[in-house]
Amino acid sequence: MEKWARANYQPCLPLGDNNSRITGCEKHRMLSRRAATEGTVLLKNNGSLLPLRKDKKLAVFGKAQFDYVKGGGGSGDVTVEYVKNIYDGLKEKNADVFEELSMYYKTYVDGEFKKGAEIGRLEECELPAELIEKAQAFTDTAIITISRFSSEDWDRKNDGEDVYFYLSDAEKKMVDKVCAGFANVIVLLNVGAMTDTSWFANNDKVDAAVLIWQGGMEGGAAAADVLFGDANPSGKLVDTCAAAFEDYPSSEGFHESKDYVKYTEDIFVGYRYFETIPGAAERVVYPFGYGLSYTSFDLSDISVCDNGERIFVSLSVKNTGKRAGKEVVQVYYSAPRGKLSKPARELCAFAKTRELNPGEAQTLIMSFAIKDMASYDDTGAVCKSAYVMEKGTYNIYVGTSVRAEKFGDYEYILENDRVVEQLTEYCVPENLGKRMLEDGNYAAVADTNPVRKTFECDYTPAEKPSEEYKLIDVANGKITIEEFIAQLDNEDLLILAGGQPNTGIANTFGIGNIPKYGIPSIMTADGPAGVRINKACGVNTTAFPVATMLACTWNTELVSEIGRAGALEMKENNLGVWLTPALNIHRSPLCGRNFEYYSEDPFVAGKMAAAMVNGIQSQNIAATPKHFACNNKETNRAHSNSIVSERALREIYLKGFEICVKESSPKVLMTSYNIINNVRSAENAELITGILRGEWNFKGMITSDWWERDKQSLEIKAGNDFHMNLASINEMRTALDEGTLTRNELCACAKRVLEMILWIE
Ligand code: BGC
Repeated sequence: MEKWARANYQPCLPLGDNNSRITGCEKHRMLSRRAATEGTVLLKNNGSLLPLRKDKKLAVFGKAQFDYVKGGGGSGDVTVEYVKNIYDGLKEKNADVFEELSMYYKTYVDGEFKKGAEIGRLEECELPAELIEKAQAFTDTAIITISRFSSEDWDRKNDGEDVYFYLSDAEKKMVDKVCAGFANVIVLLNVGAMTDTSWFANNDKVDAAVLIWQGGMEGGAAAADVLFGDANPSGKLVDTCAAAFEDYPSSEGFHESKDYVKYTEDIFVGYRYFETIPGAAERVVYPFGYGLSYTSFDLSDISVCDNGERIFVSLSVKNTGKRAGKEVVQVYYSAPRGKLSKPARELCAFAKTRELNPGEAQTLIMSFAIKDMASYDDTGAVCKSAYVMEKGTYNIYVGTSVRAEKFGDYEYILENDRVVEQLTEYCVPENLGKRMLEDGNYAAVADTNPVRKTFECDYTPAEKPSEEYKLIDVANGKITIEEFIAQLDNEDLLILAGGQPNTGIANTFGIGNIPKYGIPSIMTADGPAGVRINKACGVNTTAFPVATMLACTWNTELVSEIGRAGALEMKENNLGVWLTPALNIHRSPLCGRNFEYYSEDPFVAGKMAAAMVNGIQSQNIAATPKHFACNNKETNRAHSNSIVSERALREIYLKGFEICVKESSPKVLMTSYNIINNVRSAENAELITGILRGEWNFKGMITSDWWERDKQSLEIKAGNDFHMNLASINEMRTALDEGTLTRNELCACAKRVLEMILWIE
């Protein structure tokens, strides 16, 4: 096909074998199902109740068997041909389900949907005593299903009106009745992020609990695969399950104000808090990295060594049980306590085995850079605005959760403090107030009044060519991109700085679109759990498991495969820029978009995002990591100020993006709506030009989030190249006229936009 043929002519050309369509195809649906089985986390399995025999009679309780949530709402939703709920999954296996009970729930759920109820938001219905008695006469084995929904643009709460983290009173009633009436009880949790687990972890009446997450369109079938042992779960938690909502350090201030969030727990997010702060470990129900299997594994021959640059960990993993399965090995380090507070453990490498048959072993080799054990010093205790390693002993922990054993035969000892990387003071908070220390106390943080840095535009214009050229001439090497840009007048540059009308089946706008110069209009589409196409178009795509579940696979190859599959669906539908992946941090269980994000840990988030981007971009579809950064709350998201220390910013909230940018070179990146330390993300020159482009060498184009506020000249000056959904043409024109915005600044942004377009097939 000629370059940009799909963008220019919107052909209906299928990409599959024998001219078949690949969008929503069987192969992709089965990939989605495989990912859902692999991301399932088996939390509890007393007496090896699971897997179930195929002929086991089952009584399935809870509206969630029909009110199944495949993924969250908003721009992360996906239009699909069907969704297999839990009941469907069981029936697909010909499971012997007590139909009268299930049909009771079906009637209730269908009725509520007809009345306009939203998926995942139905209250649990009353359970007639006689139905329970009949179910008891049918079987001694019950499955309890619980589902939760959340969405973009609003957060969940934990009050009388909105019960999210805990069970509702109606759910508790149902659970109590089931636990009292059945010898074997299994819990299925269909959720997108952390919710309470103590109600079953500490309940002897519940024998088994499975975190089936929000598993996409095949999610119910994947759950049944796991229940009956057709798949062996190998998912591991990417978030800490704490006993109570209040145990998460972010809980105290999460809903304190709609105007700001103070990240006073500093770097002590997730397991960094629970494994470090005195007394917090006892509040953990299931630790980060944890997950059971239907088989058992033995780790042996562990060896750790270094070559002065990197630390290498190798070991053998053997399947010592009776079923085939996969194991995830995790490596953590601890840095010596010194002048800076340190988490007790930090994840630095992980690897997953292939499927090992009983008795089979595999050698895994992992490595990480010694300098990755450094901390960012924003106080000057060791060296101001630098990544530093303090002198002392660094220990390595190898195991299958954050509670891994210390590897006693190796320590990395540093005789003197070492400055690993000298950086610059950027994004200083003005009024954080206090920040948590490693002993759980807080240090006071004085208010500041920083002068924000600005950056000179380094664009060098070229001479205007004597004849008129098209963009394809740049692709063919006839002229340079700067020469091409020299032909464009300011009005053309303004067009290149903002969204273009939808064409084809796009609904999130395009990029480019100046026919006179042969600039095609490249369409965007949402993700991350699949390509999101407006329902009205009648095009169904594949809904993959939500990002949290994908992260629980700890399988970067699988995540890349999903990225590649999604990119093919994009291409087949003539779309060029996928607004995926999303990698904000799971700071609070209540954030409405947690399901779209990977983890509480930036290393997991960064590795998963990089794998996704590499998969997507292997098909010449541009990936768009988002939302840069600190979009960890949805309430008033366009105006909420995330107040955070420089250190937490760099070690927690930016780290995943840094890994992703350095390991996968995304072609596009989306800034967030929110404000960071009093400066809006899209207008934040220190964040964009200082850190992202300056320190990390990001070369792609940067777009604002959709319908960002109307001060685009400030965005352009900060290095945010592009404004969605439409450019603020008048505002920029006035700024150009008044001299507060220069043509060169617009050219620099246009160049990056055009470079992205040139890269698209
Ligand atoms: C969301 C983005 C999304 C965009 C386009 C925004 O509201 O925050 O994640 O890509 O809309 O739909």
